[in-house]
Amino acid sequence: SAPLDVERVREDFPILEREFDSNQLVYLDNAATTQTPNQVIDAIGDYYRETNANVHRGIHHLSQEASIAYEEAHDTLANFVGASGGREEMVFTKNTTEAENLVAYAWGLNELGEGDEVVLTEMEHHASLVTWQQIAKRTGATVRYIGITEEGELDMDHARDLIGPDTRMVSVVHVSNALGTINPVEELADLAHEQDALIFVDGAQAVPNRPVDVEAIDADFYAFSGHKMAGPTGIGCLYGKKAILEEMEPFLYGGDMIKKVTFEGAKWNDLPWKYEAGTPLIAQGIALERAVEYLEGIGMERVQAHEEWVTEYALERLTEFDDIEIYGPQKAENRGGLVGFNLNGVHAHDLASIMNDHAVAIRAGDHCTQPLHDVLGTAASARASFYIYNTREEIDRLVEAVDDARQLFA
Ligand code: PMP
Repeated sequence: SAPLDVERVREDFPILEREFDSNQLVYLDNAATTQTPNQVIDAIGDYYRETNANVHRGIHHLSQEASIAYEEAHDTLANFVGASGGREEMVFTKNTTEAENLVAYAWGLNELGEGDEVVLTEMEHHASLVTWQQIAKRTGATVRYIGITEEGELDMDHARDLIGPDTRMVSVVHVSNALGTINPVEELADLAHEQDALIFVDGAQAVPNRPVDVEAIDADFYAFSGHKMAGPTGIGCLYGKKAILEEMEPFLYGGDMIKKVTFEGAKWNDLPWKYEAGTPLIAQGIALERAVEYLEGIGMERVQAHEEWVTEYALERLTEFDDIEIYGPQKAENRGGLVGFNLNGVHAHDLASIMNDHAVAIRAGDHCTQPLHDVLGTAASARASFYIYNTREEIDRLVEAVDDARQLFA
């Protein structure tokens, strides 16, 4: 049986009640964004009804309450990913993409030069791939890519070859959003550190679905997005080791990130506010804390077990057909809660459109991994991705819709 009481979980997510042409919504686009439980929706409403004020600069009650709640949210998020430094190691950003840009601009622009290398993987999301490419262009550094095997796993021999004395930064995706592959980030961190390089881990698809411990990984930076973990849109998180965040230059300048300003210059604020210029993501930060409490209430081990339980069944059902090509590792325990696939002879967009006729929401396209799709030899793939409210019955609905597409296009 399911590791989770799914029916109870579903009661917290009102959107799952929606119907389209009398078909109940089957939401399988969770890698793009997850749905939001009442607890988080209420947190946003409660904040605006009761506490709304700007933080850090008010002496009045509301500002004090908002500041305390906002600051404490940083501690909760730090704790959630095992950062023992608390708020000082947890910067709120707009999303994973902004976290990536923050480090690329603040660290990369200042630290990289001719002859330096940034090592990425062929399965990087555009969030890191495009960002480091641009920073490399501006600094004269070179970007190199760790290749993938037939199974869609990182070629670790290649990684050991590539990560060398010229490597300054290794930026890797923890769980691939296109293949589902779980990468050996601990081993990659060791390889980077042996060369005195830093490692940035893109955890956008990992933190929502499994227990993550940034210190066990020994990541120098680790980023994720609130909207993929039952939280609101508009907020992401950047974990950074305190010593590095203290050394690094700010990314954005302005109010709140300064301690002292004169006409000649400025001194930066304490961590993490040094990296949060201007009015920050107050409502979102507080609501994201509520999302974390919600997930912790379930337990991240159980979240992971549930994802595997649904993924295992999806793999089992989709491999029944020889006209379906599945990307990434073949075993559910070796991947995150998503399955990328193609139905022979049917463009992924057409497939997604037939699915939509069945009210089955999946994603089709390159999933912000165009170079990876070049390696896979296809312009697009379909992707079904799961969360705590998905059931095996919903996978049956997915497979029925695939059948329908097969009939229509055969
Ligand atoms: N990295 C990965 C692996 C992702 O899946 C995503 C979201 N598709 C991102 C980065 C970017 O996240 P965001 O759009 O929230 O910045």
